[in-house]
Amino acid sequence: MNIKFESIKNEIVKLVAANRVLANEGIVDAYGHVSIRNPLNKNEYLLSRSLSPELVTEEDIFAFSLDGNPIDKNSPTPYLERFIHGSIYKRRTDINAVVHSHADEVLPFTISETPLKPVIHTASDMGHEVPVWDIRDQFGDTNLLVTNEDQGDDLAVGLGDNKVILMRGHGFTAAGRSLIEVVKVAIYLPKNAQIQLHASNLGKFKSLSKGEITIRSRVEPNAPQMVRAWEYWCAKAGVNPGI
Ligand code: MN
Repeated sequence: MNIKFESIKNEIVKLVAANRVLANEGIVDAYGHVSIRNPLNKNEYLLSRSLSPELVTEEDIFAFSLDGNPIDKNSPTPYLERFIHGSIYKRRTDINAVVHSHADEVLPFTISETPLKPVIHTASDMGHEVPVWDIRDQFGDTNLLVTNEDQGDDLAVGLGDNKVILMRGHGFTAAGRSLIEVVKVAIYLPKNAQIQLHASNLGKFKSLSKGEITIRSRVEPNAPQMVRAWEYWCAKAGVNPGI
């Protein structure tokens, strides 16, 4: 582990676990990433170097400023799409962890006019509204990746006060109050998308109400039921849960 992170060793262990859990659950593959706001400096975030999440270890975690620059100028190649993370931390002081994924199940909702809605209780943390961001609206033809701060800022504006934003033809980004919360959203969002799609084949379907979401959101990120899920995912992935 990098010596400067020694005092937040447990947070680094959990961030590594989140990488491996998201890979094991099929939420990220060769691509996708997860970050936390730096507990030692709210104007920085911690993210792996450019590496598939399945392979991330403590040695691969580096700090970045919110504009996406590595704090350690000698750090290895970063993710091209790291700007997603800094722009959200910059705009949302309530957010302490971010996941970006290309999960197949959500993709139909990024390219159609049918909104993704919370339809299962386990996905309630995704929030009532899930906006869709189209990079082409502001930036014309691109490679669809968020590769600079302007694009990251535009995505963060699109996210607004929501928890999840879909990205047209690309994937989703989820923002959470805590690492465990955002991992939970990232795991249940694709399941929710799949169930909504199945249900829509049956006809009209019901989604969770704003009131139901508010009631469910009263669970603290470190409540026993959250910790239970975290321990389960970590055990399945064979990683140290850090708790
Ligand atoms: Mn991407």
